[in-house]
Amino acid sequence: MNIRANHAPTAELQALDAAHHLHPFSDSRNLAKRGVRVITGADGVWLTDSDGVDMIDAMSGLWCVNIGHGRRELADAAHAQMLQLSYYNTFFMTSHPAVIELSAKLAELAPGTLNHTFFASGGSEANDTNIRLVRHYWAAKGKPEKQVIISRKNGYHGSTVGGGSLGGMAAMHKQGGLPIPGIVHIDQPDWWSEGGDMSSEEFGLARARQLEAKIDELGEDKVAAFIAEPVQGAGGVIVPPETYWPEVRRICAERDILFIADEVITGFGRTGRMFGVETYELAPDIITIAKGLSSGYAPIGGSVVTDEVAETLADAGDFNHGYTYSGHPVACAVALENLRIMTEEKIVEEAAADAMPYLAEKWGQLVDHPLVGEAKIKGFMASIALTPDKAARAKFASPEGTVGLRCRDRCFSNGLVMRHVKDRMIIAPPLVINREEIDTLIERAVKSLDETHAALEADGMMVSA
Ligand SMILES: *Cc1c(COP(=O)(O)O)cnc(C)c1O
Repeated sequence: MNIRANHAPTAELQALDAAHHLHPFSDSRNLAKRGVRVITGADGVWLTDSDGVDMIDAMSGLWCVNIGHGRRELADAAHAQMLQLSYYNTFFMTSHPAVIELSAKLAELAPGTLNHTFFASGGSEANDTNIRLVRHYWAAKGKPEKQVIISRKNGYHGSTVGGGSLGGMAAMHKQGGLPIPGIVHIDQPDWWSEGGDMSSEEFGLARARQLEAKIDELGEDKVAAFIAEPVQGAGGVIVPPETYWPEVRRICAERDILFIADEVITGFGRTGRMFGVETYELAPDIITIAKGLSSGYAPIGGSVVTDEVAETLADAGDFNHGYTYSGHPVACAVALENLRIMTEEKIVEEAAADAMPYLAEKWGQLVDHPLVGEAKIKGFMASIALTPDKAARAKFASPEGTVGLRCRDRCFSNGLVMRHVKDRMIIAPPLVINREEIDTLIERAVKSLDETHAALEADGMMVSA
């Protein structure tokens, strides 16, 4: 399994990493002090680190390894494609079989008339494409003043200048001059943190209606699109109230704007259907895809658009946009093989029929833990809110994220990769996780919560803000 079994000792790797490797979303001083964790191998839902310790990968890497680690067929597909045609571009009136077959396969899998894909190497790039594409679309329709894109606070749409601007991450907007002009953010449907005295149903409607109000405030003739994740992932697995999406759907149908569903996490089975828009019965004009498209085995993403959007673009001549690696043959071959396995082995259907409801039952029980306020789950995206006082939905007096980070450290020590977003704990396990592995995941999560709780009590930190 592990082709780099003979790696250097951990301390040596850590020192080299600290000396030469700049990490995403990390404080490098702090990382160097603590020593980075070096992952050396993976199989199924299991990771191995450089000290030989096994951990459950309850985050599917970064929400991407949907079919699980270590599938030989994907390695074979990459190998064969590299030997046949390792690279050619798709710019100059050329194409190749891998990108053609993948485009056709996506048209078959995506709902409605989402039949045309513009490829990128990841989700951020695809969302940058979307910004240019929706504005170009309206210009092609003779409405070039429809430019503004409405997005949501605490949404995540990537880390490029465009993607980071679409996203509503305050910490990202503080750096590097984001957001770019022409993007406005409305509030997120996070009832636990922001619902106040409203019921979750009332709150869902209120937050959806902010979209309507914002369109009216800006003027429908100025708005190009609304972009949102069916379930916010990086924002903390915020599962919206049941009233939210039907109301957004109504508003989008009544107003002449495009709807972009960012399916980078929710696509390819994560919510129990192939796409999140199927789970929530939404009718997007564009979906952003990446991550599970290749189960993370190769970097690839894209924008899938409807017949109507593709026709309109076609009427406008050249779309002056593209990436060297748009439709990279090796990434396409790997994605195709991933989708073949996913469909032939009925991975989504089987997870939805058994492991997802099984995890939902166990995850729901976490709400009885003294440290846990709410437990939310949709398919294989789940979160718990840590709180010192459930009834009041209180935050901790300690700086936000302190408790979450402590809990995450306990999880790591107990052989579980569970992430924290501020003081929420989140998981998104591979779709192939079985009942026994779910039992282990839950056992380790409970042990970590118990230890965190005990430590907070000992340190006098079970205190509300
Ligand atoms: C991860 C993510 C992105 C960015 O994708 P990258 O491949 O990291 O560029 C965009 N949107 C959502 C919803 C994501 O979760």
